Amino acid sequence: MSTAAIIGGGNGGITLAKALDEHLDVVLIEPKDAFVHSVAALRGPVDQEWSSRSFFDYATLLTRGRVLRDRAVKADATGVSTAAGTRIDADYIVLATGSTYPYPAKYDLDDSTAVLAKLTTTHQALHETGSPVQDPGSGENSLPRQVPSRTLLTGYSPS
Ligand SMILES: Cc1cc2nc3c(=O)[nH]c(=O)nc-3n(C[C@H](O)[C@H](O)[C@H](O)COP(=O)(O)OP(=O)(O)OC[C@H]3O[C@@H](n4cnc5c(N)ncnc54)[C@H](O)[C@@H]3O)c2cc1C
Repeated sequence: MSTAAIIGGGNGGITLAKALDEHLDVVLIEPKDAFVHSVAALRGPVDQEWSSRSFFDYATLLTRGRVLRDRAVKADATGVSTAAGTRIDADYIVLATGSTYPYPAKYDLDDSTAVLAKLTTTHQALHETGSPVQDPGSGENSLPRQVPSRTLLTGYSPS
C-alpha cells in the first residue's frame, strides 16, 4: 500500500489524515503533543476553563496510520526528514503546516502542559492589570466576570 506523509496536524492535516486512513498508510508528522483548537485560543487567557478544553489527544485520531511527534525539516521527491533524524519514505507528501500568529492566538510551545502553565501566567497578569484583550467575545463576556473591579472599554458595540 502507498504511504502518505502529512506534515502538520492542524485542522487541514487531521481532516485529510482521517479521510485517507483507510486507503493509504498515513504518517501524520506533528511536533505538538495534542491537536490545538485555535478557535478557543483567544478566550483561553481570560477564561481558563476554555484553555484545558482546547487540546485533543492525537492518540484516537487514526485507526491504521500513525502520528509521529516530530518536526519535518525537509521534504523531497521520495519522502520527509524530521528534526529528530527520522526518515519517512512516502509516495505522497502533503504540506499542511498552516500559519503563525503571535501568542496567545497561536501557541509557541509544543507541549500542552507547558502551554497551560503559560496561559495561567497570562491569566494572572490579566487579573492583576485588567488589561484589554483583542478578542471581542472574550472582552465582552469574560473579562468583566473575571475582573469585576475593572472597567472594560471595547472598540465595538455588541449587538
Ligand atoms: C485565534 C484564532 C481563532 C480562529 N477562529 C476561527 C473561527 O472561528 N472559524 C474558522 O473557520 N477559523 C478560525 N481560525 C482559523 C483556523 O484556526 C485556521 O484556518 C485553521 O486552523 C488552519 O488549519 P491548518 O491545518 O491549515 O493550519 P494550522 O491549524 O495552523 O495547523 C498547522 C499545523 O502544522 C504544524 N506544523 C508547522 N510546521 C510544521 C513542521 N515543520 N513539521 C510538522 N508540523 C508542522 C503546526 O504545529 C500545526 O499543528 C482561527 C484561528 C486563530 C488563530
